[in-house]
Amino acid sequence: MEMVLETTATRAYRSLRHRILNNDLKPGQQLPQQRLAKQLGIGTVPLREAMVRLECEGLVESVPQWGARVRVWTLERWQHLFDLRVAIELQTARLCAERATDRELEELMIQASELDAFLDATPQDFSQIAARDAALHQRIAELARSPLLLEQFERAHVLGQMVYLTIRYTADVIQEPPHPHVDLVKALASRNLNLVRETMQWHLECARNEVQAQAKEWGLIGPSEGEE
Ligand SMILES: [Zn+2]
Repeated sequence: MEMVLETTATRAYRSLRHRILNNDLKPGQQLPQQRLAKQLGIGTVPLREAMVRLECEGLVESVPQWGARVRVWTLERWQHLFDLRVAIELQTARLCAERATDRELEELMIQASELDAFLDATPQDFSQIAARDAALHQRIAELARSPLLLEQFERAHVLGQMVYLTIRYTADVIQEPPHPHVDLVKALASRNLNLVRETMQWHLECARNEVQAQAKEWGLIGPSEGEE
């Protein structure tokens, strides 16, 4: 019985997570439990379990007297999240440069070349770019060989995606050098930690600027706290 409950809750969790990350459920959208349970064809107990997981991940928030909703992003929250991402990824890059084998870095280079070529060829295909970009950054985090850091990386990345995926990527917002990921892996392969830090920092700050500019333009990030 418990096994079945666990499976149903996990399935509900995955389904809702997918819908949030694909922007089918939009920031601020209310998540009424009865209706969602009915939609998913499950009871409210496994649904509640799924909601708790989503809340722990930061994808859902509960508002007193109002209920659960898809998390709303203010510019401050987004900035804080990005600060976290920069801190984590400077460290994953550093450890990757120290710990990855030459063979692993060669494979990473192939992945980076493919990603940059894809970016060049189809800058509009944003959800594909975001998925492939996430896969490369994830691989760097795995090669850091630090399980707790990887866990935190995944958490920050999922939240970042939420804002990221709702943005239509246009060619003219890309201000980075033409092969940002190849440059990044070259820095890792040089094992020069200063170069690693500079290259990763530059890459992430470019992403921060692009995403922020687009998100503001599209009204995807709410007003600053204190602003109206
Ligand atoms: Zn990237």
